[in-house]
Formats: sequence, C-alpha cells, structure tokens
Amino acid sequence: MQPAPNDCEQFRSADFDSVIVRYGGELGIKGAWTRRFYERRLLKNIKSVLKRYEILYNRIIRKHGRLFLKTSLTTESSKKLARVFGVSSLSPALETTSKLDEIVDKSVFLAGLILREENTFAVKCRRVGHHPYTSTDVCREVGRRVLDAFPERCLTVNLKRPDETLGVEVRNDQAFVYSMVVEGAGGLPLGTQPRVVSLLSGGIDSPVACWLVMKRGCPIVPLYFDNAPFTDESTTERAMNVAKVLSEWAIGFPRRVYVTLNGPNLAEFKGKRRFERLTCILCKRMMYRIAEKIADMVRAEGIVTGEAIGEQVSQTLQNLRVLNSAVTKYPIHRPLLGFDKTETEQIARRIGTYEASIQKAKGCTAFPRKPVTRAKPHEVTEAEKALDIEDMVERSVKSLKIVNL
Ligand code: ATP
Ligand code: MG
Repeated sequence: MQPAPNDCEQFRSADFDSVIVRYGGELGIKGAWTRRFYERRLLKNIKSVLKRYEILYNRIIRKHGRLFLKTSLTTESSKKLARVFGVSSLSPALETTSKLDEIVDKSVFLAGLILREENTFAVKCRRVGHHPYTSTDVCREVGRRVLDAFPERCLTVNLKRPDETLGVEVRNDQAFVYSMVVEGAGGLPLGTQPRVVSLLSGGIDSPVACWLVMKRGCPIVPLYFDNAPFTDESTTERAMNVAKVLSEWAIGFPRRVYVTLNGPNLAEFKGKRRFERLTCILCKRMMYRIAEKIADMVRAEGIVTGEAIGEQVSQTLQNLRVLNSAVTKYPIHRPLLGFDKTETEQIARRIGTYEASIQKAKGCTAFPRKPVTRAKPHEVTEAEKALDIEDMVERSVKSLKIVNL
C-alpha cells in the first residue's frame, strides 16, 4: 500500500523555485493522440487545483513527459497536486541551465541543506537532449564535488540504500535538481473517462468505491437515497460530509450530490409483511432502478456501488445476482468486489473519508430480523408484482434534489 499521498512531512526548507510533476506510468504508454488528450486534461485539472488554493505560479512548462511548475510555493503546491489523479510523483526542485558546472553548483547547494553528518547519499540523473556529458558523468561529478564540499560531515556514497538521493533532470538546455519525491495519487486524469452514477451512502465502503473509479478517470455523480423515516438527518449529514471530502479529489468538477427519497418505497415494502425477509433486496433493486433513470438524465455510462462479496447479507453472490437483474440498461460496477473490509478501511483512511464515514449516524431501521441470504429470483418477481414498481420509481425520480455542497 502506498503512503498517504498528502504525507509531505519530509519537506525541508530550501529555496526551491519549481516543482517537477511526473505522470509517466500508464500515460506514457498511450498512443500519441490519447496521450495528448490525457495531458491536456491533466493540465486543466492541475490549473483548477492551483486556482482553487490560490497558489500563485509563473507558468507550467510541458516537456518530454513532465510538467515543470514555476512557483515559489513548492511545498504547498506539491502537497495539493499529489491529489490530482494522473500525477505519479512530484519533486520541489531548483532550476538551472544544462551546463555541467551549474548543475554541480546547484546540487552542492542542495546537498548542503539536506545532508547531515555521516549520511550516505546517491546521485541519480535523467537526461533528454544532446549534451557534452553523459548522465553517468553528471552523477560522478556531483558526487565528487559534494564529498569535497563537506569533508567535516563524513559523507559517503551508497548507491544501493542511501539516506538521501540527489536527483538531476536535464531537459535540453534546462536542468532541475531535487532531493525529495512526493508520491502522487496515480491513476488517470479525472475527466478522461465517462461519468458514472455512484451510489453514495456515506458508510465506509461506497466513498472508497467512488474514489477508485475517480482514480481511473471517471467523474462521479454521487446519488444518495434518503431513507427517512427509517433513517434521519444524521444519516444525510454524514453522506454530505463524505461527499465534501470526495470533492477535494475532484477540484474543477461540480460539487453536487443528487438526493432522492427512498423512504416511501421502503414503507411500501414493509407494508407487505409476507416479503419482510426480502426488504433489503427490494430496496437495493429500487435504488438501482432509480440510479438507471438518473444515469440517463446525466448521460452516465454505468452505476457504481460499494458492494463486496459477502460483506453484508445483501451482498452474497446469490443476492447480487438478483440485484443485477433489476437493471439492464447500465452495468453495475463494484470496485470493492474482492476487497477485505480492512483493505477498504485502509484506503478510506488514506483518502480522508474514514473520519467522515464513522461519524454517528442512524442506521436503517427497516432492516429485517432475518434478511434473506439467498434470494430466489422468482420470489423477488412475485413480491414486486404485488407493488406498482414503475410508479414508485417515478415518484422517487420526481423527488430528486440536487444539493450543492
Ligand atoms: P456502505 O459502507 O457503502 O454504506 P454497506 O457495506 O453498509 O455499504 P449496504 O448498506 O448493503 O452495504 O449498501 C451497499 C451499497 O449500496 C453501498 O455501498 C452503496 O453503494 C449503496 N447504498 C446503500 N445505501 C445507500 C443510500 N442510502 N444511498 C446511496 N447508496 C446507498
Ligand atoms: Mg454501510
């Protein structure tokens, strides 16, 4: 598991003037057209973040698979940009020219700031363009000059497990020197894939499911079902708070939650005592149907839920099969299908939704005493025949409210 993407404690003060934004990984292996499209979207998302947090910058240079952000607010911008999907890593850096002497001078300056007594260090260089030296020459020269510059610190070179690494990136006539690497969110830039309707309950699982599809580039339309009077405002408030945390990962995209009433549907299911054990199945099928209508409305390509095999009684494979049959127009995507609860919780903590998800909220009181673990398709069909499902769906869709966060 990666460390928290916003964990920037290793930052130390230096007069950095640039941030190297890396987005290699998957973006690097795309074809030229796709890559350009992804890069443009990434740049747009990065600019939205900088604007939102009022981070002043001079410009952003796109060069050979990297972005170089020219700003003096390097710590803050690295921290914020680590949350932009598609960014694999970032480094506050010092810019210089590609002259070897100048690269060495800057590197020695940076080494002076970061290396402590008896530290071991390594030098790493990546180079694009034609230069009168090789990358190995850069490493050797910087290493030698750092050792010469601080004899009192008793430094040694260790290429395998150094305490610190000095990095040099040479790009044609420019070069950037850095020492720390902040891990980015990875994935694909948000907005490079179609949008999806995400069923967001506010519990621990569904926000993680939302985040995982966002990470793969899909903007989400969060859909919350208000089950009052079987839940209350505390449940709704929790969902809204969770949605706010998620929106921090989607800066530049609408900060909205779609809310529809599902309580009246639940009341009708509860009214049919014969089918009491099927309550959760009938309720979920209703949610899927309503989600399908919303998906049509917002032109989404699918529906996302936080279900995982066997995580709840309604999530046995037999029950999931029965749930699936409620909708045919859109696929139900379940990014957590194979996750253990502890894995889901780990991600929830890392992305910041966990705290909001565990805030006190009323659990659904419509939960039956003995919920069915293996729903039979014909029983569900029979139960739904006794109700006017279409009318119920329409009523819920009519109750739709779009809440701006
Ligand atoms: P979560 O932790 O996400 O609440 P859960 O493990 O408690 O999920 P269920 O309550 O069975 O499981 O819900 C399964 C999925 O159905 C949720 O992950 C979510 O996607 C969706 N869902 C459940 N209740 C609601 C709701 N009130 N509004 C929107 N979506 C919901
Ligand atoms: Mg839950």
